[in-house]
Amino acid sequence: MTPVLVDTHSHIQMDRFDDDRQAAIARAAEASVGYVVVCGDDPETCASALALARAHNGILPTVGYHPHEAAQIGEAELAQLRTWSEDPAVRAIGEIGLDYYREISPPEVQARVLDAQLDLAIERGLPVLVHSRAAEDAIAAHLSRYAEASPLRGSGREVGIMHCFGGTLEQAERYVEMGFLISLACTVTYPKNEEARRVASGISLEKLVIETDSPFLPPQEHRGKRNEPAFVSAAAHAIAGVRGISFDEVAAATTANALRLFAIDAEHRVVLA
Ligand SMILES: [Zn+2]
Repeated sequence: MTPVLVDTHSHIQMDRFDDDRQAAIARAAEASVGYVVVCGDDPETCASALALARAHNGILPTVGYHPHEAAQIGEAELAQLRTWSEDPAVRAIGEIGLDYYREISPPEVQARVLDAQLDLAIERGLPVLVHSRAAEDAIAAHLSRYAEASPLRGSGREVGIMHCFGGTLEQAERYVEMGFLISLACTVTYPKNEEARRVASGISLEKLVIETDSPFLPPQEHRGKRNEPAFVSAAAHAIAGVRGISFDEVAAATTANALRLFAIDAEHRVVLA
């Protein structure tokens, strides 16, 4: 029997799924996806991630404010995040990070909002989902301070996930050393993305997870269309291909890694429905 897959990062609460969200969840379950992580990135999508998780088994909600939103985040929004983080359904703080590529919020504002959320993750003992774009050097200092202070350090669980990892193998190894998992998206299937395949073959299988980041970043065979959780298997197939191992081995390892990070233990396994 094929092990279930975990899509460790999606945004299926977004309006691009308003017409067929139930059907997309059913297609994911049909495609052996056992869990879909639904990430909040602003106040509205945090609330809708939590609502979706109440309506379905196997939806793992996370709450956090994306660096694009940083300029809109004040004390009231941070207080709201703290309240949400006390909900036992919440699996992580994220997505949070730095984005110097689009720089929609000023870098110093992004840094302040990131640090406030890292502090909350430390306080709550929750892992973090990290978005880093064109900010690899700047973010490392924030994350190493966090990783040192996280109560997850030394617990057998990792401190977070580097989501849709787009750096080099050497950078990935540095984050693994800090205590992070590396998540590869379906972009690992793109012909030009040699570096992602270097990461896919070079990182220890015990440190890899997979994601869709849907509705964004569809796999090569669906390029130009909307991505959805059912397509996460494309990332697993690509990783199996470059490592020369079976799809089932990649599925079993990445699922075990994800369930460990999100603290879904054997008694609490209720897959997508
Ligand atoms: Zn995302």
